[in-house]
Amino acid sequence: MVSKLFTVDDCPSGLFLNNEWIPGEGEPLRFTNSADGELVDIPPLHTATASDIDKAVSYAQAAFTGEWSTFSGEKRGLLLHKLADLIIEHAEELAYFESRCSGIPISFVRRGIPSMASVFRYYAGWADKYKGDYFPPTDGFYKIVEHEPIGVCAGITAWNASLLFLAWKSAPALATGNTIIIKPSEKSPLGTLAVGYLVSKAGFPPGVLQVVIGEGLTGHLLSSHMKINKVSFTGSTTTGRKIQDAATKSNLKRVTLELGGKSPAVVFDDADMQKTLFWCSFGITGNTGQVCAATSRLFVQETIAEQFVNSLKESFQAIAEGMGGDPLNPATTYGPVIDKLQYDRVSEFIQTAKHDLAPAVGGEVYRGKGYYIPPTIFLNPPEDAKVYREEVFGPVLCIKTFKTEAEAIQLANDTDYGLAGSVYTQDLKRALRVSRAIRGGTIGVNCASVVGPQVPMGGFKLSGVGREMGEYALRHYTEPKSIWISNYSAA
Ligand code: NAD
Repeated sequence: MVSKLFTVDDCPSGLFLNNEWIPGEGEPLRFTNSADGELVDIPPLHTATASDIDKAVSYAQAAFTGEWSTFSGEKRGLLLHKLADLIIEHAEELAYFESRCSGIPISFVRRGIPSMASVFRYYAGWADKYKGDYFPPTDGFYKIVEHEPIGVCAGITAWNASLLFLAWKSAPALATGNTIIIKPSEKSPLGTLAVGYLVSKAGFPPGVLQVVIGEGLTGHLLSSHMKINKVSFTGSTTTGRKIQDAATKSNLKRVTLELGGKSPAVVFDDADMQKTLFWCSFGITGNTGQVCAATSRLFVQETIAEQFVNSLKESFQAIAEGMGGDPLNPATTYGPVIDKLQYDRVSEFIQTAKHDLAPAVGGEVYRGKGYYIPPTIFLNPPEDAKVYREEVFGPVLCIKTFKTEAEAIQLANDTDYGLAGSVYTQDLKRALRVSRAIRGGTIGVNCASVVGPQVPMGGFKLSGVGREMGEYALRHYTEPKSIWISNYSAA
């Protein structure tokens, strides 16, 4: 494909700092095409060193106190709308860049791009409406509460939906007048770099949104930086702990964490079977199970278990027939996992589980090229099985049966995670009871893995700290300041 946006070698060509491509001073990153295991043929992209990060931070500081600080909320909103327009205009190129290194089918990435643009539009609307507060001088003082931007922020993201994570972090940050440095995953940074370029095209001043690339060390340079005031992270719980620790040990920067999950789907015997099958299948095979909110533990009422599991097995077998398709072919819907490391990790979960029980479907090794893993089901794994307890981040589903609603709730909550969950039933009262009883940040009733800009997304327990999207995210990018004014005339 010939890119319309990037004429130089068809690719982003460095770090995106102060509205320019600047080569990183670190090692070059290499990308493997997970569909065939071959190196992706693009010009080398060098990672950011400590001095590159310092440069980015000083540009971001200058922007924060410079021209950008004089922009009205309305003007910031207009720029965010312009960025959303450019994202839609260049959707094909962004999807291509995103799919190229990650192996995520382009058909899947394309669907996320309008959602990404809508996040920028949603926060464009907030930019001139996120007001503070006022209290009358009944005690002799007028009180004004202002919402001040925090300053220089950083966003560190995972690879499984980099463009959405970029929007979830930068749109509320920019709407409230902050500046932000984004570090996408080293496994798939091209799409994020391309959006950095679009930010400059939209007319944002230099230094307002910058993109740096690199591995965990680059992320650490951001989370431990003394002049970055906030870090928002999307990734694994293990890395989230390190980031919180680095923030604590440096300047106590504000931290929000969007982490892993082991989300339950609870299927009652009165559920609409066809729709439930669709969502339960999508909930663990969508993006090859590489979704934080994947419903990887399924609890089905005993009365319908045999029929339901048989139908799900058929659906998984049909999906597995699509393995091996080129992710850049729009007809491909089921891709490989991101890389060999992830392939080995998921395979290890499957092989360990196979010591205790045979998979109901899947579990075999794909013999063709690329890191494909067939959707796999384990029925009634032991309570302490690794595959039942830990996040696999791949297409592996554990199923157990239950008799009563109370038992289903107990099973659903028996996890250290609390990101999401689903309930399938046609009884509205039961749907509400069970939704409220599940300890998770997002519960789908007769649906799974749904997100949108108006409602908060985030986790209970080990799944995170804070929320993205909705009005809630604005609170994470502002510091409230209380101003007391003595009411002399009343004295
Ligand atoms: P990861 O934690 O390995 O990496 C995420 C990011 O952190 C990458 O950019 C990486 O370079 C960076 N990083 C690694 N070590 C670091 C360190 N010490 N300091 C600072 N940054 C560091 O996660 P991943 O494999 O990219 O993504 C998969 C994980 O992300 C899964 O656990 C998944 O559930 C989670 N996730 C959560 C959400 C959510 O919204 N809750 C969304 C998507 C993915």
